Amino acid sequence: MTLDRDIIITSAYLISAALFIFGLRRMGSPATARMGNTLAASGMLLAIIVTLISEEIVSYPAIVAGVLIGGALGAVVARQVKMTAMPQMVAVFNGFGGAASALIAVSEYFRLRAGSVEMGLETSVTIMLGVLIGAVTFSGSAVATGKLQEVIVSRAVRLPAQNLVSVALFAVIGALAVTQIVLEASPLLFLAMIALCLALGVILVLPIGGADMPVVISLLNSYSGLAAAAAGFVIGNPILIIAGALVGAAGFILTQIMTRAMHRSLANVMFGAFGAGGGGVGMSGVAAGAAVREGSPEDLGILLAYAQSVIIVPGYGLAVAQAQRQVRDLADLLEERGVDVRYAIHPVAGRMPGHMNVLLAEVDVPYDRLYDLDQINDEFAGTDVAIVVGANDVTNPSAREQADSPIYGMPILNVDHARNVIVLKRSMSPGFAGIDNPLFYNEKTSMLFADAKDGLTRLIESVQES
Ligand code: NDP
Repeated sequence: MTLDRDIIITSAYLISAALFIFGLRRMGSPATARMGNTLAASGMLLAIIVTLISEEIVSYPAIVAGVLIGGALGAVVARQVKMTAMPQMVAVFNGFGGAASALIAVSEYFRLRAGSVEMGLETSVTIMLGVLIGAVTFSGSAVATGKLQEVIVSRAVRLPAQNLVSVALFAVIGALAVTQIVLEASPLLFLAMIALCLALGVILVLPIGGADMPVVISLLNSYSGLAAAAAGFVIGNPILIIAGALVGAAGFILTQIMTRAMHRSLANVMFGAFGAGGGGVGMSGVAAGAAVREGSPEDLGILLAYAQSVIIVPGYGLAVAQAQRQVRDLADLLEERGVDVRYAIHPVAGRMPGHMNVLLAEVDVPYDRLYDLDQINDEFAGTDVAIVVGANDVTNPSAREQADSPIYGMPILNVDHARNVIVLKRSMSPGFAGIDNPLFYNEKTSMLFADAKDGLTRLIESVQES
């Protein structure tokens, strides 16, 4: 490689890195997020082109085949996935990112071993780290995907002596890694180490469930970045190191934001999951003997039409019903009548961080109408009507009041403090945490049993007629 070529490649990597950083910066606000995404994607395109034309590429046919197969699969899956299944998709992407990084480390290990090349301390340490983080990310993300898809039990499942088993497994993996680094032990032990890393990923994620899932997804996202950075060190590729480090840091910051919003520490999420006990308010707990009040769309429309202030609480059911347009229409209609309308956004509403913000941004709900939990929670008490659209767990007062509830301690929206509450959902079915919600039995609450889109349409008609 000539000096000129070297300078061009390094400069292009530098520009890519700058685009990643500016892109990430712009993703901090919904108003600039699209532009941020475009900048970061351009940076990635540049990095890929430069990597392809640098002379380190060994087999173009293999790369073209990989791009075609992977690209086709990705395009089909991305087109078919429903908005409500995006979290699973993100978990799958994290897992594949981890697997790709681990495979880079594994192939480099066997390439160097086959050529009897001296690995050197730096390379062998980064290979072991790449395998550890990549494999844990892969199997952990597979478990997270299964939980979100509900093909495996979504609540927290704790093994006997859970933390002891994890620590012991980690210690054995560490010891096996040291034998590889210091003694160049047999490749069979290396394969055993990979198997244990995969087991560790499963054991770390299995006991996390319910309201902790958003935290574990952002943590796995962070791990996938760290694994990529380790792979970058293994093959000496600076842009992979930079991109990996940025994903690792951004994922970690998101993890911190989520844990802070949930009033939890990361250690608490990892080693003392919400819902681990599985006791608390079961479906029959509150329901035994309690009755709910059902409202008609006509009466509830009148209640809304003559309110002075309304807070809309969107949740996962809004995403299922794709009723964001109807929510916006109802809010517009009420505002035209002089009603003060705000939206209360819980940090884990929906099935991915920022889920509700994305949905409401699709129909151009002004950002200044969206209020975070901390900003709005004291406002419910002075509000005429809180209308809960397809939300459940994020409004469940047992998180505040019932020490034996699986979600006890999780911050919730104080919907029950409003003067009147409308809950729009299809049935008495529980939400993601699988528990009953005392809000539904509150004397201030009127249940409107309908699909969110139909229910909102009928409320709009009623307000129009009032
Ligand atoms: P929930 O999952 O608690 O409840 C959603 C409710 O929506 C259900 O009770 C369901 O009741 C109702 N619903 C479903 N479809 C429709 C429809 N078509 N029309 C009207 N209602 C519908 O949602 P929340 O948003 O309150 O809470 C999110 C939960 O997901 C939390 O437990 C959170 O921890 C968890 N989670 C969040 C993630 C995130 O990053 N945000 C990631 C992973 C998990 P019914 O069937 O009766 O209609």
